Amino acid sequence: MNSIAYFDHNASTPVHARVLEKMLPFFSVHFGNASSGTHAYGLHAERAVKQARETIAASIGCSSQEIIFTSGSTEAINLGIRGVYEAYASKGREIVTVGSEHKAVLDTCRYLGEKGAKITRLGVDRSGRINPDELEQAVSDKTLLVCIMLANNETGVIQDLKKIAEIVHSKGSILMSDTTQAWGKIPVDIHELGIDICCMSGHKIYGPKGVGMIYARRKNPRVTLSPLIFGGGHERGLRSGTLNVPGIVGLGAAVERLPEMLQHAAVYEKWRDRMEKELIASGKGSVNASGVRLPNTSNLVYAPEKASRLIVKLPEFAFSSGSACTSANPEPSHVLQAMGVPDEEIQHSVRISFGELNTEEQVSSFISALVK
Ligand code: PLP
Repeated sequence: MNSIAYFDHNASTPVHARVLEKMLPFFSVHFGNASSGTHAYGLHAERAVKQARETIAASIGCSSQEIIFTSGSTEAINLGIRGVYEAYASKGREIVTVGSEHKAVLDTCRYLGEKGAKITRLGVDRSGRINPDELEQAVSDKTLLVCIMLANNETGVIQDLKKIAEIVHSKGSILMSDTTQAWGKIPVDIHELGIDICCMSGHKIYGPKGVGMIYARRKNPRVTLSPLIFGGGHERGLRSGTLNVPGIVGLGAAVERLPEMLQHAAVYEKWRDRMEKELIASGKGSVNASGVRLPNTSNLVYAPEKASRLIVKLPEFAFSSGSACTSANPEPSHVLQAMGVPDEEIQHSVRISFGELNTEEQVSSFISALVK
């Protein structure tokens, strides 16, 4: 496996050695249930969860009560959207989102649409960005929630969230942003950006799979969520179910590394720019979104081969033809479709996402393979 260069860090990342080391005792010696506060086993687990929660809160600049642990971003997004929709049912039934969002957002909105919500899906331009004027027109005082991601998983395109938040808040609505791909790749200041609800997933930041969290603002203004899962009342009744202690400890340890992850951004950007430049110069390809985007992500159109063929022809490199989360679904990328990329080009599009497993040599061999 190690001989295959892994260029799919937006799909998932390996658990970092320091993160794994911190998690391991919580699978065996410290296996206690974090809700069993009557004995030392439970108390040890409870303390570890508290510490992870505080680490995450301090790192992203919120209070620990604003964090609810989940099984990942998909669940966090479901809780954010459906939780707001149910909690504010008397205010209105309108939700505004964007056609290039992750399926976790789009499918949750579609589900609510079938239940009677009015869902407005904004378009994006060829660079993958929304038009703030269209947002301004779409949001009314009946809009409960606006869901716009910070960075796109397929193209890396970053939305101007600060401006978006100003518009959303001026209409008295709530802004939820899928921040899953942004953590560790760009600095994320939720207060500066004006985000009311956002999410995080362990496996995108060199932490474990199956754990994540949702942040929901508790003041100025307070955002109320209704739970999706009922049971023992864990996570202040918002997400019942025995806490995944090793996962949460791992998420906390991964978050401690966020500043370290950001230090690599400039290197990834250099590799990415070189790859794109050489591909374009060879006349063999182009870039689907080259504006403001994540430093590690590139969505390329490779003219000589369809993506499915290219992936088979270059087995020594691991990359994807779109998002891993929709790969069970063979339809063309809805993100590229939303940007107006022609179907023929979508079939030739691949996503390369660099990360900590990569070296300059791997990038050079990949460029050679593409260009020659
Ligand atoms: N949102 C975005 C932008 C993603 O890239 C992903 C995963 O690829 C998700 C949500 C879902 O995250 P999870 O795998 O934690 O459910």
